[in-house]
Amino acid sequence: MVRLNPNIPWKTRGNGAICFKVEKGKGKKTKIGKINNKDVFCYSDFSEIKNTDEIEKIIEDTINEFAWFEDDNTNSGFVLLKKQPDHKLYDKAVKDILTIDKIKSFLKEEKAVFKGYKNCRGLIGATCSIAWNPTKDKTFELIAYRKKDKWGSKRAVEPESVKKMDESIISTFDNFDYSNNHNRLVPSSPCPILFGIRGENVDDLVDAKKMIKSEEIDSWIIFESNQGTDEHLQRKKIIDVKSFESTILEGIVCKEPKTIQGGHVIFKIKDETGEIDCAAYEPTKEFRHVVRDLIVGDLLVVYGGVRKKPSTVNLEKIYVKNLKEKNVKVENPICPKCGKHMKSKGENQGFKCVRCKTKSDKPIIEKQERMIHTGFYEVPVCARRHLAKPLKRMHD
Ligand SMILES: [Zn+2]
Repeated sequence: MVRLNPNIPWKTRGNGAICFKVEKGKGKKTKIGKINNKDVFCYSDFSEIKNTDEIEKIIEDTINEFAWFEDDNTNSGFVLLKKQPDHKLYDKAVKDILTIDKIKSFLKEEKAVFKGYKNCRGLIGATCSIAWNPTKDKTFELIAYRKKDKWGSKRAVEPESVKKMDESIISTFDNFDYSNNHNRLVPSSPCPILFGIRGENVDDLVDAKKMIKSEEIDSWIIFESNQGTDEHLQRKKIIDVKSFESTILEGIVCKEPKTIQGGHVIFKIKDETGEIDCAAYEPTKEFRHVVRDLIVGDLLVVYGGVRKKPSTVNLEKIYVKNLKEKNVKVENPICPKCGKHMKSKGENQGFKCVRCKTKSDKPIIEKQERMIHTGFYEVPVCARRHLAKPLKRMHD
């Protein structure tokens, strides 16, 4: 299950695509799910299937049965390829933009079996999910599905059991947002998914599923995934930032944070090539307290997506590299001759002793403790993007 560029305006909700290998399995088998009361295994070895006609028919029937074509954003597509495309194709789809034409001509060249529905955009994700080669980093997600008669109704997943699982199975992540009381296991859309548990380890996910108290599970399966890997991000200089990409930028705060209407907090950073706005939007909740504490001169590395011009980095996390000393004026200076406080001559005009007319431009300042310290800060679980790597997974 691959998530692609999260900043594409015409994407479906999570910009996700699913790929699986169809072969005749042999060798060591591992249970990875249960569908229609039948165990599902993946195998260490396989022998190739020659005839793909049957597979094509099953997939077409499945799409026709389940795809919600009335929704404008449903533009399904499926692709059958014998040879895995280069990983670079996936890399472009997770970081950048690919056109349908380019994908279609690639599929024709490769003599792929494919079908696009409506505007055919689904072909992009389908092709690029096959191209994903999880050699650098990957996670897993166990998805549990609801009984069909429950689809669209309120989900019964006990939050207390989710918290308990979250505390005891430490290789899972993004389960529960304690400060915002948000059960992240449960989707908010009326889809057939009951819950999804993200984690590092297949066996742990099976144990985690057992701990969740919920309505009856119809089917479940574990996906290998690029979720939580930061693979959408590109390290850049500010001048090179493009719309619809996600970026890692190092810069110095050059305009202090300001809270605008709607509760969004905006500030600016600069590097030797330019300046750019950074935003912690309202849904990022308490992360905004961190951002509000930034001052001009702080050195940061920011991580986030960029939408349309004018470019603004929609923050996913920040690394505070260096904090500028924050000095605040506590008192007017004291006259060295009279020992009395001087009077201000007006803003930025300096100070003057009322009795002996001695002048000074230096008020008494005090170093103020900063609320934030150097290190990483991330948005809370409730605002986390699928691809964003949680700090829990940052081990270097
Ligand atoms: Zn004086």
